[in-house]
Amino acid sequence: MLLEQRLATFGRGRSIVDTLEELCRGLLAAFGATDLRDEAKEVGELASVPTGVGIAGLVDGAGVVRFAPNLHAADGTPVKTMLQERLGDAVELYVDNDATCAGAAEWSHGSALGLRDVVFVALGTGIGGAILADGRLLRGESNFAAELGHMVIDPSGPDCGCGRRGCWELYASGSALGRLAHAAALAGRATLVQEIAGGDPAGIRGEHVVEAAGAHDREAGAILEEFASFVALGLGNLASIFDPELIVIGGGLSRAGETVLGPVRDCFVSHLEGHGYRPTTTIAAAALGDRGGAVGAALLAASRGSEPRAMGSALASRSGEEPRSHPPRGAS
Ligand SMILES: [Zn+2]
Repeated sequence: MLLEQRLATFGRGRSIVDTLEELCRGLLAAFGATDLRDEAKEVGELASVPTGVGIAGLVDGAGVVRFAPNLHAADGTPVKTMLQERLGDAVELYVDNDATCAGAAEWSHGSALGLRDVVFVALGTGIGGAILADGRLLRGESNFAAELGHMVIDPSGPDCGCGRRGCWELYASGSALGRLAHAAALAGRATLVQEIAGGDPAGIRGEHVVEAAGAHDREAGAILEEFASFVALGLGNLASIFDPELIVIGGGLSRAGETVLGPVRDCFVSHLEGHGYRPTTTIAAAALGDRGGAVGAALLAASRGSEPRAMGSALASRSGEEPRSHPPRGAS
């Protein structure tokens, strides 16, 4: 049995830990925490239920959110320690960056299965990322590697939540698509998009552009083309650095599928160094969609943070069978 619950991040005096506690308690109660403990013991003589948490931003190896450009209220929060105190020993927590989790999930169970050099890009509120280089997840010195969205592409660009200017995610995230469309609407170049958004340009989001483009609206198509060129610009930079065999696009915008990926592929070659002298990197949608972060957090929790390739054997040794193609129960 798999369960999914969604809650707003936080606000109105609630902290990120309050929200996570509610989510964890809700899921544990839905499964029946007692049964879960029994099952955990059966498959691996565990005293607690492995529970994974993925959070946007700089999350260190101790599960502290050091800095979250799109979630500043969480800055400095020792999520792992606080949540563990509240939930007690019924759970064994694993806390990591959400895009790292999603990339790990795509590697072990998704579009990047079995590959060695992969760039994973999550297009959502911001842009998260994970890099698989030569068969290993790139972690960096402080577990902060692959903050792809904060690659600066225009030093004189708009202010970013990270304190700098012109970061890639200001141009190529799901939010950025909404902003592009908002500007187009104010200039009278997004009639259908604005209509789908309920008539108010301020309410326009990326999904409204995708919907209009899906209906072959030319104005929406033009907005998507502009957006795709920004996505492709960053992907070209990443290809120059990592020479990946595959680029996986995840995050909320991955739900748009070919409506977004098609224009991105069309632009990509013009941003690829040495195009014609190297293989053109394949660009594919994330197999796990925008659930990859949760799935990967669960998988990493179950394997106690070991690398995805080793994760399969960790799961198999616990269950005595082949790894399952879905996340273990109880992990969020
Ligand atoms: Zn930034």
